[in-house]
Amino acid sequence: MNDHSRSVHGIGMTSARTRARMIDRLVEQGIQNAKVLACFELVPRHLFVDEALGHKAYEDISVPIGYAQTLSQPYIVAKMSELVLQAPHHERVLEIGTGSGFQTCVLANLVDEVYSVERIAPLQQKAKSRLQQLNLKNVQLKMDDGFFGWPEEGPFDVIIGTAAPSEPPMELLDQLIPDGGRLIMPIGEEQQYLTVIDKVDDQITKTQIEPVVFVPMLSGVKNA
Ligand code: SAH
Repeated sequence: MNDHSRSVHGIGMTSARTRARMIDRLVEQGIQNAKVLACFELVPRHLFVDEALGHKAYEDISVPIGYAQTLSQPYIVAKMSELVLQAPHHERVLEIGTGSGFQTCVLANLVDEVYSVERIAPLQQKAKSRLQQLNLKNVQLKMDDGFFGWPEEGPFDVIIGTAAPSEPPMELLDQLIPDGGRLIMPIGEEQQYLTVIDKVDDQITKTQIEPVVFVPMLSGVKNA
């Protein structure tokens, strides 16, 4: 074996082992959906964080992605993905807060069409190039203030938010399909809860899933 093949092989072995550990942990933490677990085995999480932090990508922690933002720990991304697949309809999904693009990539492997909005231009650009490299054909990205959703492409079966507003934004509720639409996002200020809002016959019911810590959802766009 020459040096090059040994190093490539070595990296592969390490990452297969760390990924397997991450999957075991997700199962222990209560993630059951086989499609979600398979997806976590497949998606190269380390490509979504800066190279220097690559070794931390599969640990049970959130990882900084710059601009005071973070990529959530694997459990939260998996839990939210499970809640997406448990929605009555989940073909067309809107994500608010593209960030690194990792949750976007996971969703793209689980549903038909993913739309994702990000308000910080450099993060959006980086996520765009990562997702292009992975050759995902079912993802549309937009640089904008996600409080307004993406009305031109709505309504959506599911809207998932990865930053926390103090109240569920009306514009997002309006962009859900009237019967069976679902909003999944952290909601709250000092204390946030991962919250599911289901819309049936235009009536909404709210369920708090668990306490969480997310970055706040902020208004307006940031170009640099
Ligand atoms: N899903 C991301 C998580 C990133 S953190 C990932 O997998 O990496 C949350 C992201 O939400 C940040 O990038 C932040 O800039 C973005 N965000 C916050 N408020 C927003 C808004 N109003 N519109 C769009 N994105 C927003």
